[in-house]
Amino acid sequence: MSILFSPAQIGTLQLRNRIVMTPMHLGYSPMGEVNDQLVEFYRARARGGAGLIVVGGCGIDRIGNAFGMTQLDEDRYIPGLRRLVDAIHAEGAKIVPQLYQAGRYAHSALTGQLAVAPSAIPSRLTRETPEELTEEKIKEVISSFANAAKRAQSAGFDGVEIIASAGYLISQFLSPVTNQRTDRYGGDLEGRMTFGLEVVEAIREAVGSEFPIIVRVAGNDFVPGSHTNTESRAFCQALEKAGVNALNVTGGWHETQVPQLTMNVPPGAYAYLAHGIKTAVSIPVIACNRINTPELAEGILQEGLADFIGMARPLLADPELPNKAMSGQSERIRPCIGCNQGCLDYIFRLKPVSCLVNAEAGREAELGPISQTTATQQILVVGAGAAGMEFARVSALRGHKVTIWEESGRTGGQLALAAAPPGRQDFLYFANYLANACRELGVKIQHSIKATPDMILSAVQNGEFDRVVLATGARPIAPSIKIEEGAEVVQAWDVLLGRKKTGHNVVIVGGGAVGVDTALFLAEAGTIDSQTLRFLMLQQAETDQELHRLLTQGTKKITVLEMAKEIGRDIGPSTRWSMLADLKRYKVNCLSKHTVLEIRKDGVLVESANDGVQKVIPADTVILAVGSCSQNELYSALQGKLENLSTIGDAAKPRKVLDAVHEAYAEGRK
Ligand code: SF4
Repeated sequence: MSILFSPAQIGTLQLRNRIVMTPMHLGYSPMGEVNDQLVEFYRARARGGAGLIVVGGCGIDRIGNAFGMTQLDEDRYIPGLRRLVDAIHAEGAKIVPQLYQAGRYAHSALTGQLAVAPSAIPSRLTRETPEELTEEKIKEVISSFANAAKRAQSAGFDGVEIIASAGYLISQFLSPVTNQRTDRYGGDLEGRMTFGLEVVEAIREAVGSEFPIIVRVAGNDFVPGSHTNTESRAFCQALEKAGVNALNVTGGWHETQVPQLTMNVPPGAYAYLAHGIKTAVSIPVIACNRINTPELAEGILQEGLADFIGMARPLLADPELPNKAMSGQSERIRPCIGCNQGCLDYIFRLKPVSCLVNAEAGREAELGPISQTTATQQILVVGAGAAGMEFARVSALRGHKVTIWEESGRTGGQLALAAAPPGRQDFLYFANYLANACRELGVKIQHSIKATPDMILSAVQNGEFDRVVLATGARPIAPSIKIEEGAEVVQAWDVLLGRKKTGHNVVIVGGGAVGVDTALFLAEAGTIDSQTLRFLMLQQAETDQELHRLLTQGTKKITVLEMAKEIGRDIGPSTRWSMLADLKRYKVNCLSKHTVLEIRKDGVLVESANDGVQKVIPADTVILAVGSCSQNELYSALQGKLENLSTIGDAAKPRKVLDAVHEAYAEGRK
């Protein structure tokens, strides 16, 4: 019997199942208010079957704010909040706001004032030094938390969650790294816990004994010198004593160097943190981070690692995930692939959250449901990449009859390239989802058809198709560099797709996303796999240092050359830092500001922009990763000869997968 879909309780709060939509920074409330965008976004997730929705973060004041947050710092927001609560309740879910104060993570450019924190220690995130809170100011912040909770109660929310993790204000008080106070709010662990506990006590006093309080905690800060599992457990025990009803366990701060949310984090990797807390308390514990399938969620509950499952991005990707899982249709779930392209990367760029795999996310109010066509067309799509299949899926949903001609024997196009490096296989799950969705909707995917202009023209003239959409993708370009005869030069795409082998001394020309992907893909060659690592660790056969060496030192010597100042400049901010750290770990030699002058049989002649010095970097294989161009010969040949002809995705212009998918979605709706 499913535990995930069994009813459960947090304090006095009865929930229909154990799926908690954990808070996401959405950026949908530019003026702090509840609006249609926010209501319809959450309504879709409540209708999709989530048990509890945590809205957030919600600002308890202005000085600790981030961009586009829903506010709880003034009574005038209560009517809007009530509208949100009513919408969620009408769908059978419960809802709580997350009370948010960022401390030294708040940026003065957004708040108009210098941030406050336990101590005046510069923030790595904002590059600003916050002002140290006086005891009097601390009392004011605690009151702001309590007043915000009271407003939430007045608006009809079912409880509140307090954020005490991620490096925000409460975790700044908890950590010796950011709290160097000598008064009663600093010093030993007991002193550092005081602020967080006083916040809980003030809220409890404001909302009464029955109103559920959840606290989001870090099971481990993953910051040198900060809290480990031991201190976190002690804090959680103190929270339980203070009357907290549940603990939502995540890990790490925004500045931690251990990835929390990138695609290479193994699904469910941090459930052990929740379990660590669960062994120390008797209140319910919510496990989070990269729990992206109902099967994984169920397994975590069955093993007794946690009592509830937190899912945020999986519900951004597919609001209907709970309902689909409950009705035995898990294979229909559109997967969150951990790419962060539409969620975290958008927030870092101060853009409202979207989703690579779900073009509707955040636009529910504006778009409404997909309507049925009154004039069914026969549509030919050329190319079964992400754009071609997304267009076909949406067109078929509208009631059109769609056929896809695909040249290769597989679907997904460039998603296969993106999925090649270690820890990036999730891109293929999206390709599989699209292919399955298309097939279910009756889209005919015909493989090994190399479309020519004549074939298309004659099919249209024979009345087989009313409309032709070209989604033929892109192809890699070759730079105009002198190449000596006999030099071994291959394209990165061929290496990533396994069509070309490389030698042991490799130079990659181009340090953008594809160059970095290729370097990481090759760097793993000759390293030990996870099974061997597990065996060696269990047997304690090698030292930690030797195991790390075996994991990171393969058989290839790799150099990445980039003309620009930075490597990986086209990779999203949420992922780039961890990929650059991996390049370092694998000892990939990265040379930025280097221009390639010639590719020779024995290596690559380069010139440094720093000092103008020229040198040859030895190589037995040179890999080109210098960009791509649209594959649009069919369009050029058919333009003017066919009335209903269009081109989408990279065939129109090479771009990020998200942009190609969203354009295809929009075209499909048109
Ligand atoms: Fe998941 Fe990527 Fe969508 Fe974010 S943008 S929710 S990581 S699929």
